[in-house]
Amino acid sequence: MRTIRRVSELRAAVCDQRARGRRVGLVPTMGALHAGHLSLVQRARPECDLVVISLFVNPRQFGLGEDLAAYPRSEAADAAQAESAGADILFVPTAQEVYPDGFSTSISVGDVAAPLCGAVRGPEHFAGVATVVCKLLNMASADIAYFGQKDAQQSVVIRRMVRDLDMPVRIEICPTVREPDGLAMSSRNAYLEPEQRRRASGLNQALTAAEQAVAGGERNGSRVVELTRRQLAAHGLEPEYVELVCPETLHPVADVEGPVLLAVAAQVGRARLIDNFVIDPRK
Ligand code: AMP
Repeated sequence: MRTIRRVSELRAAVCDQRARGRRVGLVPTMGALHAGHLSLVQRARPECDLVVISLFVNPRQFGLGEDLAAYPRSEAADAAQAESAGADILFVPTAQEVYPDGFSTSISVGDVAAPLCGAVRGPEHFAGVATVVCKLLNMASADIAYFGQKDAQQSVVIRRMVRDLDMPVRIEICPTVREPDGLAMSSRNAYLEPEQRRRASGLNQALTAAEQAVAGGERNGSRVVELTRRQLAAHGLEPEYVELVCPETLHPVADVEGPVLLAVAAQVGRARLIDNFVIDPRK
């Protein structure tokens, strides 16, 4: 595996491969890699000839007062893990490389970026995500890019951007990888104190209880949300939001008639945690 820091060098490496008809896969990350990130690399490996994983803590998706400065950074450990998962190129640009002086373009994805995390973190958040993902896809000339279902709204925003802007890339969304107690893996889990870590598993338990209620015949969206809230409270968690929405449009759903996205966010100690289930009443 090669570590590359310059866009020009990445382009040279990728163009050489593409000229030989090879397929390029990209896994964009902010580093502090865990098994969730590695599952994306492992998924890309058999589907692509060249697998690029990027590590970039994107300042443009952090709001004032968020954890940009504290965000965990561990390039040496990340490199070892990325290599053992099968990546060919570790791309680690600086902020200056991604946003050179005079940089002034931003991609605003509109309605799917507005609710859920967009409402809490502000419109700059998903504009920052969309802009950096668009840049990384262009830098790597990716044929396929891999994202995690854990960041459900991010996946919807990226798919919408790619569709709206006719970007020549296929987007693959991969399942959420969890700790044994169900907590979704996240670089931010490292912030949790032991007591907070125990409470954090309540996110998964609340989603599981809601899923079971739907499996048991519950079809009323408000009652599913209410039950999820009660479960979170029972675990000492105060959600920022609990929303039942259409998985494609993120519009609120009143009745559970087809697959729905139940998404939650909660601040637990210093960590802002998100999780979601897609619940299908027909299964
Ligand atoms: P991040 O480094 O948190 O920006 O995440 C980089 C990519 O990894 C995103 O596409 C995330 O959705 C994905 N990801 C993060 N955590 C998980 C997880 N637990 N399971 C699967 N994918 C994940």
